[in-house]
Amino acid sequence: MSSITLTIDGQVVRVPAGTTLLQAAERLGIQIPRLCYHPHMTPPTVCRLCVVEWEGARTLVPACVAQVREGAVIHTASERVQRARRTILELLHSAVDLSETPDVARYDAELGVDPQRFVDGVWREAPFYDDNPFYVREYEKCILCWRCVQACGDDMQFTYALTLGGRGFHTRITTFFDAPMPETTCVFCGNCVGVCPTGALKGMDEYLLERGVPMALLREEKQRRKGRLETGR
Ligand code: SF4
Repeated sequence: MSSITLTIDGQVVRVPAGTTLLQAAERLGIQIPRLCYHPHMTPPTVCRLCVVEWEGARTLVPACVAQVREGAVIHTASERVQRARRTILELLHSAVDLSETPDVARYDAELGVDPQRFVDGVWREAPFYDDNPFYVREYEKCILCWRCVQACGDDMQFTYALTLGGRGFHTRITTFFDAPMPETTCVFCGNCVGVCPTGALKGMDEYLLERGVPMALLREEKQRRKGRLETGR
């Protein structure tokens, strides 16, 4: 496999052709911020937090998919890049609940994000689903990273219970025809919960413990919910 030499933040690095900018930067110990990217999944390229400046390119490029090129000169933390990342996070803060997205507080501090900057923006109201005994879906925390859809589909489970619905600002994660989860093809594998980076999808144990249900009563509570589901009450 041929090798490519490029410069990232002033450091020269040699990597195999086909390496992404994000991977090449990691070789140098440079961690580029990201939200939707997961190392074992197809990059959906939707959050744009990983954008970097490629000298000579008109626009910023997403480091999770842009591949290295011979002689490229990349800046991962220029003022232009930082401004873009700051604005992305400020817009996200204006529309969704990021309180359980682990890296956001650190990114906010590093980039000088003002979570109140777009406080007059429209909050993306979304339903809360507690429709099965295994996990809940709290879409006010959803950043539309698509990881769950990909995990449910071609990246992991090939079940296709989850999909995108709506358009533009009203785009949301849903099931086909908005059916309750037990009426879909979902096999409750938990892969979507495992890859969700925001707490929008949460296992039932975690959800109940957070709400003060004592550990000793978890099994009982889950049985009650399962029974409620089976009897439709
Ligand atoms: S529910 Fe979670 S995994 Fe699915 S799109 Fe929203 S944030 Fe991403």
